[in-house]
Amino acid sequence: MTKFVFVTGGVVSSIGKGITSASIGRLLRNRGFTVAPMKLDPYINVDAGTMNPFQHGEVFVTEDGAETDLDLGHYERFMDVNCSGGSSLTTGKVYSSVIAAERRGDYLGATVQVIPHVTNQIKSSVIMLGREQEADVVIAEIGGTVGDIESLPFLEAIRQMRTELGPGNSLFVHVTLVPTVGPWQEVKTKPTQHSVMQLREIGISPDVLVCRSEVPLSAEVREKISLFCGVPPRAVIESLNAETIYEVPLMYESAGLGAFIIERLELEPRKADFEEWRSLVETIKAPKRKCTVAVVGKYTENGDSYKSIGEALIHAGIPNDAEVSVRWIESDAMENGASPAELLAGLDALVVAPGFGVRGIEGKIEAIRYARETGLPFLGICLGLQMAVIEFARNVCDLEGANSEEMADNPPYPVIHLLPEQRNVVAKGATMRLGSYPCNIVAGTVAHRLYNSSRITERHRHRYEVNNDFREKLQEHGMAISGVSPDYRLVEMIEIADHPFFVGTQAHPEFKSRPNRPHPLFVGLVRAAVARHAAVVA
Ligand code: GLN
Repeated sequence: MTKFVFVTGGVVSSIGKGITSASIGRLLRNRGFTVAPMKLDPYINVDAGTMNPFQHGEVFVTEDGAETDLDLGHYERFMDVNCSGGSSLTTGKVYSSVIAAERRGDYLGATVQVIPHVTNQIKSSVIMLGREQEADVVIAEIGGTVGDIESLPFLEAIRQMRTELGPGNSLFVHVTLVPTVGPWQEVKTKPTQHSVMQLREIGISPDVLVCRSEVPLSAEVREKISLFCGVPPRAVIESLNAETIYEVPLMYESAGLGAFIIERLELEPRKADFEEWRSLVETIKAPKRKCTVAVVGKYTENGDSYKSIGEALIHAGIPNDAEVSVRWIESDAMENGASPAELLAGLDALVVAPGFGVRGIEGKIEAIRYARETGLPFLGICLGLQMAVIEFARNVCDLEGANSEEMADNPPYPVIHLLPEQRNVVAKGATMRLGSYPCNIVAGTVAHRLYNSSRITERHRHRYEVNNDFREKLQEHGMAISGVSPDYRLVEMIEIADHPFFVGTQAHPEFKSRPNRPHPLFVGLVRAAVARHAAVVA
């Protein structure tokens, strides 16, 4: 029978519920349990696909093509599991199902209400995920902060589940902030007490409190929190800022959280194996080499916009025994007077990030030209591949004015054009070419060497593609097409041989990178970046 861990947050938003949920998953995985993570998001969008990354952070794409909240990326990276569309539930999704059921007449004349119809829909989605994935434990994180109006139906649903499942089968973990104030950094527990009071008002008593704090919590403070909030002192888990997020599971384990969860959920006590995780954290914390990678994008001011790319670069540092620093560069900067030579000076590699719309693309194209001409290692992701093709068409193949149909009306050379199946698509939600697709890798290419395989799969999220009318021209001038869809219709990867590292992919390799399984394309890029750094320093 599946057990359930529910993670809520209080006091402030962005408190690290995602990392806490992901870390709990790792504690269970290291004991050999199967886990199914889930995010319950109170917003009304059906999925995150229509949200601006600048406001909401990255849109994370699952194998089955769901456009989801970036927390699913944390779950996949920490737990080393694949999420699915069912791992993400939003108010929009819940209401769509309830209203569709009402229109079908499924409710047999009943007045359709938040309780029980909406809450039943939430409960059955959570239970279904556990069943479908045959999980020992479902870890469901509720987005937002306790006290928000829109999260109430979700909290009510998990309250009901507790009664139905019984305490040995469910666990409430509440993540709060324990701030310090004044010159003596006095630790304050009141916000935590208030947040727990708010939870209790809706009928939920937490079993575990994860307390984010800048300073270690004394035994006295823990006892106070325990007394006022009704959890045993050993379930007050101190959560200090970590040097790397991947250290958080280790900190929770030494705080006794793993053992406590096992006991409370009445799971079989098993030996926990942290060897692999500990060793990757050690490498991240004390690497021997280093490099700095520029990521050019148009949403770089929000640190979460390119979350998976940042993490994939860190992962790629592990096999290279290297610290990878990232310099985020706004693509606009290059259009507003700064030259790529200035902006990229002293950096060891360039990533051009995915994106939509015309703003900033000329800056990206200029940055790619600089990388191609000066031998700066380059990885182009999705839009990054498309911009690399435009740059090459304009400056190497002499196709003046070459562009993407997304960026210009009737360009003289539409080297990037709309996918044929997208021609009649008008609606924006979940209509792109989404999710995992196979790709054949051409022997003898850099891509083949890195993947060490002739057939791979990667996740996608795009509407445009390389125009096949220009394939020959690009190849004649030295751009290799190193990956194609199995029917040869779609260019999936490009590269330039006469360069330390110049690779573009129409897919999003960043979504599949895990700390224990870094992605080969990022590993290749970082290897080239580290070599460049060493050469420059020497
Ligand atoms: N805007 C481009 C397209 O739709 C690239 C998308 C992306 O980078 N994810 O094809």
